[in-house]
Amino acid sequence: MSTMIHRTIRIENADKQSNIGQLCITTYSPQERTSRAIKILALLWGLAIVTLFIPLAHFVLVPGFLIAGPIIAYKRYQMAEHPSTADGECPTCKQPSSIHLEPSDTLPMWTYCSTNNDPVQLIDYPQGEADTTSA
Ligand SMILES: [Zn+2]
Repeated sequence: MSTMIHRTIRIENADKQSNIGQLCITTYSPQERTSRAIKILALLWGLAIVTLFIPLAHFVLVPGFLIAGPIIAYKRYQMAEHPSTADGECPTCKQPSSIHLEPSDTLPMWTYCSTNNDPVQLIDYPQGEADTTSA
């Protein structure tokens, strides 16, 4: 099963008021990454078989799912960890907030507080090692 790790982040609003929060990151072991990749491959190739019976659409869908299968499975295998939630007190409304994150989300990012939809920015909190990978 996947494990959760926590990282300290800063939750900041447009007025530069900020609070310390916690980012929950889901991490996968190599076995989990393999099984996740196999599951998505099975699903997409299964869809390729199902769409085989749809007239005309099968000319597009079947090769599409057959090609997408290994590509998406490979991407899933490469994903060793992804953010799941950001918890902390919203700097605007002062309410505890738990913000759901998409696996593709990367910090820093703008989002909305889960309580009152205040715009807030989630920022990596500087910790010893300089993990500021500026692209
Ligand atoms: Zn708020």
